[in-house]
Amino acid sequence: MLAYQHAYHAGNFADLHKHLLATTLAEQLLRKESPVTFIDTHAGRGWYPLAARETEQLREYEQGVLPLWQVRDRWLTDAGEPKSPSADKPLARWLARLADMQPDAAKGSASELSVYPGSPWWLSQSLRRGDRLLAYELHPGEIYHFDQAPVQRDSLGKVMRRQQDGLSGLLAAVPVTTPRVAVLIDPSYELKNDYRDVAEVVVETLRKSRHATIMIWYPLLPAGRQHDLLERLKKHSPAPMWRSELTIDSPEGEHGMYGSGMLVINPPWQFDRQFSTAMQEVVEVLKGALPAPQSVAVEHKGLWWLSEEVA
Ligand code: SAM
Repeated sequence: MLAYQHAYHAGNFADLHKHLLATTLAEQLLRKESPVTFIDTHAGRGWYPLAARETEQLREYEQGVLPLWQVRDRWLTDAGEPKSPSADKPLARWLARLADMQPDAAKGSASELSVYPGSPWWLSQSLRRGDRLLAYELHPGEIYHFDQAPVQRDSLGKVMRRQQDGLSGLLAAVPVTTPRVAVLIDPSYELKNDYRDVAEVVVETLRKSRHATIMIWYPLLPAGRQHDLLERLKKHSPAPMWRSELTIDSPEGEHGMYGSGMLVINPPWQFDRQFSTAMQEVVEVLKGALPAPQSVAVEHKGLWWLSEEVA
């Protein structure tokens, strides 16, 4: 059994990048009527109180969601609603959701950021009648927490969590019964082979479900293991790809992981524009908040022509 527990990292810059992307993409897909099945292959707990012992130990949220939360009044009213005319912006809506889920939200203004939600919560937020979310998580400890979390309580039966391997679960689930499918793959990459396994499962998923939208998170590591994943997909993926990389340090800096990458296969129409705008706003906030010499930047690249360089 592997040791990774996401509670140590909850709300860090990679979560912010990944969850803002997943939420923006889900909203974009849900503009069309036909139902969507979302699949979260590595769900985690879905819910992370920031005062938890594990989260307190590293306090990674202080270089992620917290700086954004502290200036949320740029986008939100005192009541935690998106300010007009920014109501159409994904970042404002994302922050409004975060404000609304805080335990003191019912009292009028959520001043404390005390809980940070995980990917199944973010993906479950806009589900309509006919949409559903399949969430896979392998570890019993994480499953225990998942079952206590609001994602399970509030989902009105639209969320199905399964305690099994997420990659084989994905392959068994596609093609799905709804007209559209969107997948988030977010492993902990504890094993070197994880990069290869993810690439192989993605290619097979696309073979079975050609138009699947697939989001893959990967770490930017000085050892460059992420290039294996990108190179394999460049060679074998039959579908258009787009990637976003958020860096908060240089590869030679003090952080082991110097950035967060998201690859999107078959991105929905105009998603890249919406997300790029939101990320520019995030980067401006992080630039002001992270201590020197960390340098924050985001880079987006369409990989529509698969022979282009991906690294
Ligand atoms: N996606 C979550 C989020 O954004 O809130 C975080 C997921 S965390 C990076 C990876 C999770 O995958 C861990 O909770 C771990 O227990 C779980 N896991 C590890 N191996 C797995 C497997 N083979 N299938 C499904 N889940 C697995």
